[in-house]
Amino acid sequence: MSFSALQLSETILKTITDLGYIQPTPIQEKAIPVILSGENLIAAAQTGTGKTASFALPILQMLDTKRKLRGKRIRALILVPTRELAVQVEKSFITYGQDISLSTMAMYGGVDSSEQKQRLINGIDVLIATPGRLLDLAHQRSLHFDELEVLVLDEADRMLDMGFIGDLNKIIERLPEDRQNLLFSATISSEVRTLAKRSIYKPVEISIKQGKTTAAKIEQWLVTVDKGNKSALLSHLIKEQEWEQALIFIETKQGAAKLVSQLAKRGISAESIHGDRTQAVRENILADFKSGKIKFLIATGVASRGLDIENLSRVVNYDLPDKVEDYIHRIGRTGRAGAIGEAISFVAKDNFRNLCAIESRVGHVITRKTFEGFEVKKTVPISILNYVPKNKRI
Ligand code: AMP
Repeated sequence: MSFSALQLSETILKTITDLGYIQPTPIQEKAIPVILSGENLIAAAQTGTGKTASFALPILQMLDTKRKLRGKRIRALILVPTRELAVQVEKSFITYGQDISLSTMAMYGGVDSSEQKQRLINGIDVLIATPGRLLDLAHQRSLHFDELEVLVLDEADRMLDMGFIGDLNKIIERLPEDRQNLLFSATISSEVRTLAKRSIYKPVEISIKQGKTTAAKIEQWLVTVDKGNKSALLSHLIKEQEWEQALIFIETKQGAAKLVSQLAKRGISAESIHGDRTQAVRENILADFKSGKIKFLIATGVASRGLDIENLSRVVNYDLPDKVEDYIHRIGRTGRAGAIGEAISFVAKDNFRNLCAIESRVGHVITRKTFEGFEVKKTVPISILNYVPKNKRI
């Protein structure tokens, strides 16, 4: 299918061509016509599938009318879990809307709010916000929702995981009833469904097939390792395989700090990014990583969502995530937009259950590699895919 079959305007089609997009991704193919027809939507789609364009393109097209925006009003509201994602989604709106004159703003906590309030005075067409800061400014009457046309809940599962349900309910209560609602989530869990039931009337539901959750161009492999050997193994791989760059996921911020110093002792310089670092520091580190000044970036799970680092060649799960969804999201950081990527996981014996769940989800066992000098004392068994414990068998 081509973009021109999706009833997109000439302006949007021109932008897409300029960006070099040739074909819509599956989520774009399914979501764009539904959104343009004005219906409500619930979509199961991961990061890396092109989901941002799947809502940004039709929203930009729908808002591209000469309607005058009133002060302190917004026309589209995109709620996102993290500030990084807010910045990234705003960037997408700016890119996709380069030939459309609409105002956009990313609004998040952790920074002074006076500039955000100032910008709201004249109204904003597309506001991308984290729930807490939005609610704060709404309480202070810095913005009003009475002219809102579209609401997007992006990465809804993540927002619920992060405990935003109370804020989301309070925001939704304030919105005008006559609005279009779009919900995007990596998985449609029962919690997501409850949120959808409460806020979205008769939605069309679409989902991108399980098999398509990870892009085909990501090479996944794992190495089993005894816990105490992880940092030595990482240094070994960086040196032996001459890695240029890697985004390394770790469980805790303490672990991140320790790893930075362990790598430093072996002559490898790395930086860490986690929820406690200020916005300015995170932005600087990210910019340095993107420019290649920082070669190895160690990130905790909290900081992992919303990092838009294109053409990333390699991610490492230094700690295997507890949730399968997080694994899928993390490896989605590589090989984006056609580039080839490599996703490497360090698996210790304690991770066996997680590994089974991950391999069951990706549908195959992940290739194992071994390295001389790093043989394990505690062997990790080979997973049985889709294993159902005896007491749960029907
Ligand atoms: P997302 O899932 O929204 O994070 O998008 C992942 C990446 O895919 C982004 O870098 C987009 O620029 C890129 N992208 C989105 N749609 C397309 C498309 N139809 N063709 C090629 N690249 C795309």
